Amino acid sequence: MKIIRSPEVLQREMRRQSRRGREIGFVPTMGALHDGHLALVRRAHRENDLVVVSLFVNPTQFGPKEDFKRYPRPFREDCRKLRWAKVDYVFYPPVKAIYPEGDSAYVDFAPRENGVDLTHVLCGKFRPGHFRGVATVVAKLFCLVGPDRVYFGAKDYQQTVVVRRLIRDLHLGIKFCLCPTVREKDGLAMSSRNRYLDPAERRQALEISKTLFWIRKEILRGNRQIARLRRRAIQNLRKTVDRLQYLEIVDPESLSPLSRFQPSMVALVACYVGKTRLIDNVIIKTRPRRNPG
Ligand code: AMP
Repeated sequence: MKIIRSPEVLQREMRRQSRRGREIGFVPTMGALHDGHLALVRRAHRENDLVVVSLFVNPTQFGPKEDFKRYPRPFREDCRKLRWAKVDYVFYPPVKAIYPEGDSAYVDFAPRENGVDLTHVLCGKFRPGHFRGVATVVAKLFCLVGPDRVYFGAKDYQQTVVVRRLIRDLHLGIKFCLCPTVREKDGLAMSSRNRYLDPAERRQALEISKTLFWIRKEILRGNRQIARLRRRAIQNLRKTVDRLQYLEIVDPESLSPLSRFQPSMVALVACYVGKTRLIDNVIIKTRPRRNPG
């Protein structure tokens, strides 16, 4: 496994590999790796000749009062996991290499007629500038790696929609691969931030996935009163978590909130448990009803 810190060296190496006909799978991460990340790596392995993982805590996607400084950076442990997973290249750049002094180009999304877009709803509403930071770093990393396929987790559902759109609108010609959320045995979505939780908070946090699973179960058993379901879920979750930022049931592509049933939906939550901000979601796909007769 090669560890590369310089963007130029990485780009040169990746171009050399592409010229040799190697297909490159890329998994961008912020490190503090868990089984969710490793599931993306395993899939990238199955579908490509080479796997590249980036470990980069991207400052531009954190707000001024967020946990950028505190974010865990267990580099040696991450490397051990990646070596074990037989990753070919680890890209571990210093912040200055990705954002050289005086850099000014970024990637952002234009608002739609109604003033909102994919990046100003849900998490974007509570984390101004977050998706501009995500889109910018992802675009930079894609340019450096030149991957054939990229792997993202459904855990960060809004991010997957934003990155998909970036690939499409900028004609990047990269295949986007969506991987399911990996959960702990009891249902809690794996996250690098779970390590902030003390045992009592860990128990509180469990209510997030429980609530989302309840919504999915209700819809799958035929409950079509989406607005009412959402209200009940909010009432329930508010009893347990410390600050609910949103619980929305939305269209999987436009992220527009839904008050009526449709065959494909996503329910998403963002909330604080203690000082830790957690997000989770479930994708709900109902089978089309057969026409009677
Ligand atoms: P992060 O390091 O949190 O930026 O995540 C890097 C990638 O891993 C993103 O595509 C995430 O969506 C994905 N990821 C994080 N947690 C999970 C999980 N529990 N299951 C699946 N993918 C995940």
